[in-house]
Amino acid sequence: MASIQRVLVTGGAGFLGSHLCERLVEDGHDVICLDNFFTSQKTNVQHLLGRSNFELIRHDITAPIWLEVDQIYNLACPAAPGHYQYNAIKTIKTSVLGAINVLGIAKRCHAKVLQASTSEVYGDPEIHPQTESYRGNVNPIGPRACYDEGKRAAETLFMDYYRMHKVQIGIVRIFNTYGPRMHPFDGRVISNFIRQALHGEDITVFGDGSQTRSFCYRDDLIEGMMRMMNKADDFIGPVNLGNPGEYTIRQLAEQIINLTGSNSQLIERPLPDDDPTRRKPDITLAKEKLQWQPTIKLQDGLLQTINWFRSINLEHYRPPTPNY
Ligand code: NAD
Ligand code: UDP
Repeated sequence: MASIQRVLVTGGAGFLGSHLCERLVEDGHDVICLDNFFTSQKTNVQHLLGRSNFELIRHDITAPIWLEVDQIYNLACPAAPGHYQYNAIKTIKTSVLGAINVLGIAKRCHAKVLQASTSEVYGDPEIHPQTESYRGNVNPIGPRACYDEGKRAAETLFMDYYRMHKVQIGIVRIFNTYGPRMHPFDGRVISNFIRQALHGEDITVFGDGSQTRSFCYRDDLIEGMMRMMNKADDFIGPVNLGNPGEYTIRQLAEQIINLTGSNSQLIERPLPDDDPTRRKPDITLAKEKLQWQPTIKLQDGLLQTINWFRSINLEHYRPPTPNY
């Protein structure tokens, strides 16, 4: 987009949010990063603080806020299972009240608002790969429901504000994304395995490691989100964003051991309840509507991420949540 926009990024200090803010600042937009630092820290955006087109607000998106903006990326929500299960009630409030609050801003300002939804809306999927038309298999009363159902309800709110108030919206369903600035203690599989491999600790494979995931590098993902936001036509999604390359968790562990040159051993730990058996995005729609597809191979993305993990001091990160 050529013109300068005033852009609000909720959850802007997080793993994905901080990279999005970086891209937007580089493109010359006026960026407001809003975050309560529940799962992130200011160091993620410290390098942007001196920039005249960047502003940081500590705020909890469950409370209303009065801002004037042209675009909103709504990313505020803990994303890792250990983080979102730490305070499950707060998680669903963040998705639902957060959606209501950003949609309210968008309605008042005639802004466009993009929802960071998730492949978790498909639950433990019965169809493979997952297309946007699939309605999912979520356990509404299980330990992942606070996140899955919160994100599903947020999609409902986005659609209803679109139908009732003509708010300009976009919904992207993000599949597992990784890269530098993931919280090293978030308990997600890539952060756990790299941290464990670099420190010679056992690699904790949950279950027998035959469950699959498809991993997208963060730069590819941010590009897809920005294309969706800046799309001029009336396409609102939902659209899957993810890398269709599918790996078992055991294959991922072996690849990380190889790339780090680690002596770590694999050990099995109990599979968490409702852990999806397999996951892979069908990205036909993203290719057609956004001319988007991932460009970064898993090995290259993992090397970038491993290098970043080598460069950080783990003591600078707040300790893991009790659910870790
Ligand atoms: P993250 O935990 O690093 O980022 C989330 C950010 O939101 C953090 O900075 C956190 O402090 C902030 N936040 C949480 N609750 C808040 C609240 N009530 N008010 C204000 N800020 C709050 O996670 P991420 O991986 O960067 O995820 C960003 C978004 O993308 C999330 O909405 C997540 O659900 C979605 N998503 C991510 C993935 C992935 O694989 N990374 C996959 C699917 C969806
Ligand atoms: N996992 C694992 N060991 C870990 C962390 C996760 O085997 O130390 C598995 C987890 O059970 C799941 C997959 O890796 O099958 C991806 O987990 P993650 O928490 O990264 O994301 P999810 O896709 O489940 O939300």
